[in-house]
Amino acid sequence: MENCIFCKILNKEIPSKFVYEDEFCFAINDINPKAKKHILVIPKVHVKSLNEVKDLTLMTHLFEAIRKINLQENIVDFKTLINTGRGAGQEVDHLHIHILAD
Ligand code: 5GP
Ligand code: ZN
Repeated sequence: MENCIFCKILNKEIPSKFVYEDEFCFAINDINPKAKKHILVIPKVHVKSLNEVKDLTLMTHLFEAIRKINLQENIVDFKTLINTGRGAGQEVDHLHIHILAD
C-alpha cells in the first residue's frame, strides 16, 4: 500500500532493523518506546486495522509470532496492545500489535 509507513519498512524503502520475520509478519522496535522493550508485530499483508481483518487465522499467526519473539527477547511478563481507530489512538493505519515489557 502506497504511503503506508509499515509497508515501506517491509519493502525496505525505509530502513529499519527487523527483530523477527516469518512468512506472515515482521517485528521492529518502536521508534518512540513507551516501555523498556516496545516491539511492534506487523502482518506483511496490508490490513488497515483489526476491524478489517477478514481471516482471523492471521491473528493466530501474529500471536504465535509474539510467543516466539518473547522467547527470543527473554520477555516473560508483557502487555499486548492493539489500537483500533483514531479515537483509540491508532496512528498508523496498518494493523500492528504492540508488545510492551519493563
Ligand atoms: P499506533 O498508535 O498506531 O497503535 O502505534 C503506532 C506506533 O508506531 C507508535 O508507537 C509509533 O511510535 C510507531 N512508529 C511510527 N512510525 C514509526 C517508524 O517509522 N518506525 C518505527 N520503528 N516505529 C514507528
Ligand atoms: Zn501497510
